[in-house]
Formats: sequence, structure tokens, C-alpha cells
Amino acid sequence: MVSIVPNNIQIEDDRTGIDIETLKRAFLDNLFYIQAKFPRIATKNDYYMALAYTVRDRLLNRWLRTTQTYLEKAPRTVAYLSAEFLLGPHLGNNLINLGLYNVVKQAMEELGLNLTDLLEQEEEPGLGNGGLGRLAACYIDSLATLEIPAIGYGIRYQFGIFDQEIKDGWQVEITDLWLQYGNPWEVARPEAALEVKFGGRTEVYTDEHGRYRIRWVPFKVMKGVPYDTPILGFQTNTANTLRLWKAEAPESFDFEAFNKGDYFGAVHAKSECENITKVLYPNDESHQGKQLRLEQQYFFVSCSLQDMIRIMQIQNLTLERFHEHYAIQLNDTHPTIGVAELMRLLLDEYGFEWDRAWNITTRTFAYTNHTLLPEALERWPLAMFASLLPRHLEIIYEINCRFLDEVRIKFPDDGDRLRRMSIIDESGERYVRMANLACVGSFAINGVAELHSELLKQTTLHDFYEMYPEKFTNVTNGVTPRRFMLLSNPRLANLITNKIGDGWIKRLDELRKLEDFVHDANFRHDFRQVKQAVKQDLADHIRTHYSIDVNPNSLFDIQAKRIHEYKRQHLNALYIVTLYNRLKADPDLDITPRTFLFGGKAAPGYYMAKLMIKLINSIADVVNNDPDVRDRIKVVFLKDYNVKFAQRVYPAADLSEQISTAGKEASGTGNMKFSMNGALTIGTLDGANIEIREAVGVDNFFLFGLTAEEVLAKKASGYNPWDYYNSNPELKLVIDRLASGFFSHGDPNLFKPLLDSLLYRDEYLLLADYQSYVECQERVSQAYRDSDYWTRMSILNVARMGKFSSDRSIQDYLQHIWKAPAVKVDVPEYTQSHSDLKLTF
Ligand SMILES: *Cc1c(COP(=O)(O)O)cnc(C)c1O
Repeated sequence: MVSIVPNNIQIEDDRTGIDIETLKRAFLDNLFYIQAKFPRIATKNDYYMALAYTVRDRLLNRWLRTTQTYLEKAPRTVAYLSAEFLLGPHLGNNLINLGLYNVVKQAMEELGLNLTDLLEQEEEPGLGNGGLGRLAACYIDSLATLEIPAIGYGIRYQFGIFDQEIKDGWQVEITDLWLQYGNPWEVARPEAALEVKFGGRTEVYTDEHGRYRIRWVPFKVMKGVPYDTPILGFQTNTANTLRLWKAEAPESFDFEAFNKGDYFGAVHAKSECENITKVLYPNDESHQGKQLRLEQQYFFVSCSLQDMIRIMQIQNLTLERFHEHYAIQLNDTHPTIGVAELMRLLLDEYGFEWDRAWNITTRTFAYTNHTLLPEALERWPLAMFASLLPRHLEIIYEINCRFLDEVRIKFPDDGDRLRRMSIIDESGERYVRMANLACVGSFAINGVAELHSELLKQTTLHDFYEMYPEKFTNVTNGVTPRRFMLLSNPRLANLITNKIGDGWIKRLDELRKLEDFVHDANFRHDFRQVKQAVKQDLADHIRTHYSIDVNPNSLFDIQAKRIHEYKRQHLNALYIVTLYNRLKADPDLDITPRTFLFGGKAAPGYYMAKLMIKLINSIADVVNNDPDVRDRIKVVFLKDYNVKFAQRVYPAADLSEQISTAGKEASGTGNMKFSMNGALTIGTLDGANIEIREAVGVDNFFLFGLTAEEVLAKKASGYNPWDYYNSNPELKLVIDRLASGFFSHGDPNLFKPLLDSLLYRDEYLLLADYQSYVECQERVSQAYRDSDYWTRMSILNVARMGKFSSDRSIQDYLQHIWKAPAVKVDVPEYTQSHSDLKLTF
């Protein structure tokens, strides 16, 4: 094989040197030769770009050596397929992982520039909605850090998740233009484009060996162009690839229209092709059955599978060994069409027999389920599916037929079971059920927290659990401590490193050594000062951007996540009104001052969620401006919650709101990010909250609310929200005040849909959990008054969060599912700067 990076390559110092003088020279070079600017006319963005290219030069050697190593050694590779990657800005993270943060900061200072300002300049790639996309980003970070051969496959949306503005208290969506000034971290590979077919029909033919074969005659063919982004490990030579696909028209496109002289028609049709990867669907935890979404899914999955096959061909490996070479993880059902696509490729394109192809396919895929919410389970109207993917539907019918035979053998005379497990839903209008296809086509099925994995087995996937108990496992989610501690909270990171060394960054369990210092008054003092300084930063941000003064000594109570009824931001709002009512009734009441902060986007078509944002802003308007409140409570809705802003928010919390209805939040990862930055959690026994509470200790967690079991029992016994309204005067007062128009300039109709949903249905049991929540909040307020006691609990939260590193999650996947060993990458020229771990800021 031809070496990609010959060992005798001339490495130019200006592109790799990491001393301050070289960095400065390289930066000014890039400003001149790439941005074509000189300092007098350069914008802040020009400086950012020049720095990004300077840093990129310094990681290319590792990236290419990693690629070369994988090509040569052909190791078992994890392919992480995800329709979303919510990456966050690259520059800061790459500086950290390269060990260049401080030296680059110094170099910039010597040029009169501020690194923090330049980092702020980066437009983050918002290629995801929330937790699911962010999980994919944390996992590719950990895969690289653990030196696992891996590739992330996804979609290069031209417009990621919308930017959120707030006008008159309502959410307004603005198009995300993340690519408008260019993206220095990606490399387009047009030479590696692949073709993807859509629509048309299938036909039967006999091949040269006299075998019966099927050929797909598509209606149209598109081109997928890969865009590669390096994903660096922390303190390793490994730099894996994130390969995102962009849709384009093939060169041959609509030749006929051109020939007929319909030039504009042809060009128009060409630009239509690019629509497939134009925009991210902005719904979190809900599914709509839109054709373009199915096109997106098939498009990126087909490109990715063809790409894996092509790589094996370069490596001279036979496709018989596909499952030995790749472990493909399906991040939710979004890429599940891959099961049928791999079958199609093996059967139709490479002439495999059915049994052989099925054996390979079912030893390749593993499926992660992310939700129990029925509205989020993907299913496609059969007619739509048939017109878009006719060959895949045939293959799915065959898979289903053989599968249902197996079910009949294991569970004879059980027609209901067959109907429930069928990949085709035939109960009314017919649908293709993607979760069923994923379960049948995968060798492993996992939930994302212990409770969630249990509930999957007991409810949503119960039939599949009875059929294939051996496939089921749990992998509790985790988050990367590099981005969410070291980069986002350098004050805390430095304090920790001063006490216990820097091993925790790669082995988060070492945080446990901090327990020794809980009894050290000096340490508690320093720890408190760190939190105070971070809160002050956020208070400054709020003053600058919202002209609201918040008291940095008040309890920072934060709920930041997508807005959803099951996450119950409105329960938090009910508590704020409760406190407000108490202050109105007794203006001298002695309460613990609190700042309630919210952040999160609502799906643009999700009316209730948008009304919840308006509700919070309306309460904020009244509370923040009522002289009776005397600044004891403040409410701020922080706009445009994204990864960049999340990095500011998690470290500043005293209290983390994790208050979903028990049984509804599969895991949560925000809960982990808060807790590892020293916030205490007020939460239900839901998702990973349960495991966080076990880890940090039940005394260091504020628990309230019904359990998942009690929720089900209550619903089964005929839950009536009016009972709670009628029997709880304080709750009644809150609802009545909201209904009266007090918070809506006298308009009693504004919040009526929300209040009606609570009083007449209350699917998420807010009224049932209200009293328990209020009482728990009182315990929080009391505890916060004893700042020494609070600080001890806060330190113990940090010290005991080791389990929730995404490194641990990836090790679980490796051990139980992927079984892909680490591969060391040798980079002869590379020198690691180990002295660069305590960030200056
Ligand atoms: C972690 C994260 C989430 C997920 O938060 P949950 O509280 O688990 O729902 C969503 N958005 C962003 C930007 C995040 O960083």
C-alpha cells in the first residue's frame, strides 16, 4: 500500500511549531495568505479564521497518520451513525486536546488579541436538537481519547438548529447561517462522492450464472459529497474522522432537459437535489412522518454504508467479513434503514445469498433506543415508503416474513403478538415501524440509563425482550469532562488539579480523591469562591445582554434544556408563582433569595412549548418589576440555548432542575453536566437522575415526586387533576392567578390552553407532583442558608461523578457490544506539551 504520509516527509516548522514566535508568525501568515488581510483591515472573524487554520495545521499530521494507520492495519472499526451531531465550537476544544491553549493565548496576547474574544467568534455547528445529538458529539470525543478506530457518519445540514430570539416574550426562529463565513474545520472530498438512488421500481432479471436477481431502476440518482472534520483525542495521537454528507446533483443530471434547451428547468432541478441536506428537522422527541426526513435518513445511511464497503475494498478485505470489520451503532431509529440498505447492497450489488447477507447484517448493527414517548417512535406511511424506497420495502417484507415465522415457532397461536411485533403496522393505515426493524436487524439493543433500559424491557420493547432477551443491555449515558469541565470551567478544573493532579481529566473516577478535602475549610472556601466567580460572570453576561441585575449571592436555580411538557418547565413556573404569591401576601417574608434561570428552544410547531416560553417571560416581567419582591426573586429566560452558551451556564448553577415526570426522560445528560460542576440536583426518580443520586449519595440530592411505577398506577386508577386543585389552596391560588390574566395584562385567554391542559388532562402529572416539589424546594432554600453545609454537598457531587464520563459509557459499549480494541497511532514528529493543562483565563 502506498504510504499516505511518507516517513521522510518534510514537515514545515511554520505549520507545526508550537513555540510562541512560530505560532505568531504562522498566525500572521494565515491572516495574509488565507484571509488576504493585514491587521489594519482585519475583522475579528479574520483573526478567528487565521487562528483556526493555525491550529488546524498543527493537528493535520495526527489526523493523516491516524487515517493511514487505520487503512494499513484495517482494525475493527466503530461506525457511529447519527442523524445529529451537536458538536459545539471546535477551536477551544482542539486547543485543549492539543495541549496548546496557554501558549496560543500568550501568542495572541503578544499580538494584542484576546483568545477568549476569538473563541467567542466561532459559529458552532448546531447539527442537532439537544441531548441525542450532544451525546453523539461526546461519544466521538471519547472514542478518539480512548484511541478506538472509529468514524462518525452524519448529515452536513446547511442550516442547523435555528437561532432563537425572544420578541414580546415569544420565541422567534431565525435561520442558522453557520456556514456563511466558511468552516475552517472541514475538508470537502468531492473526489470521494457516492451515488444514492431514490424512487422508481424494481425488475427481475437472470444474471450470467443463471441466478434470479433483482435490479432497482430508480426514478432519480443523487450525489453525496463527504465533508470530513478531524476529531482529536485528548492527549493522544488519535484524530478520528467525522464524515458528514452533503447532497448534490450528479454531473449527468437531467441531461435531457439541457438537450431540450430547458436550461433554467435543468438548473432548477439540480438545485432541488441539494434540498435533502438543506435543513435539520427542529423537533426533539417527536416524529412527523415527513418524506424529506426519510430521504435525509436514507441518503446519509446509504452513503455511509457504501463508504464502509469502499474502505474495505481499498484494504483488500472481502465483504464476507464486513461484520468483523465494522460495528455499526444506530443512534436511535433514525439510521435504521441501514439494515435494509446493507441487505440490498449485499444481495443486489454484490450477489450474496439471503442467509449469508442476513447473517452479516445482524452481526453488524446495534441499536440504541432513546425514548419511550409514543409520539417519538418513528413510523413511515407505507405508500410513501414504497414510492421512495421500493426495493427496501420488498426486502423489509422478506425480513418480516421470516421473522414472523420465527415468532410463530417460539410463541404459537398468538396472533396479537404477531400483530404487535410485525415490522409493518396493519392496525389501520399501514406503516413501516422503524423500532421493530431495528430490533430484528440488530445483535444488541440498549437503553441509555438503568431505569430506561428496564422500562424498555417491561413496556415499549417487551415483546422483543421476550423474543430475544440476550440482545438487551444498558449503557448509561455520559458526557465529556474535557469540554464540560476543563474547557467550560477552568477555574474549577485548576482548583481540582491543584489538589489531586490532572489524572481526572482522562480518568474521571479520580475525582473521588476530592472527598478527602471536604473537611478542609480552606478548600471549601476556595471551592465556594470558584462558584461565586463563575456566577458573577453569568450575572455580568445577563446585565450586558438583558439589562437585568441579578444578585450573584442569590441561589442560581437553573433549568436549561429543550422546552417540552414532559420536562415540566411549567412546574418550575408554578413554584415561582407560589413564591411570588407568598411575598405578595407577606411582603416581609424571609425567603432565600433566588435567581430562576431558564434556557431552551421549543420546536417551532409545538404550540404548548412555545406558550411555556411566553408564560415564563410573562411571569418574569411581573416578578422582576414588582417593588414588593424587592429583588428576592428574579426570573430570566436566556435566549438561544446552544452548546456554546451551555458551557457558560452549567458551571454557574447552584441548583439543577431535573424535574421530568418519572418514566419519561430516558437518561438526560444535562443533569450530569450540572452535577460535575458542583450544582445540586432537585429531581425526580427519572432517567440517570436515579444513578446520579446513588452515586453522589441520597443526602446530597433533593428528591421529590412520584416514581415511575406510581405514575403508571395513578393513571391506571383514573387520575383527576381537579382533586389536587380543589384540595390544595396554595396551588389553587397559583392557577387562579394565572387564569385571571394577572400575568398577561389582564388577558384571561392567553394561558388558557396551558391551564386547561393541566386541569382537564395533566398528562405529565404536574398537579400530582406540585406539593412534593414545593416542599422539596423549601428544603433546598433551608440548606442553602448554611453555606458551609451546601458547599460540602456540592464538593461531594463533583467528587462522585466519575461514572458519568462518556469515557465510561464508551468502555461499556466496547466491552458489551462493539469489542473493538484500541489502536495506537505513531506520530514520530509529534511532541506533546504536558505542561498546558491548567488553563489561564
Ligand atoms: C446537554 C445538552 C442538552 C441535553 O440536556 P438535557 O437536560 O439532558 O435535556 C441539550 N442541549 C444542549 C446544548 C446541551 O449541551
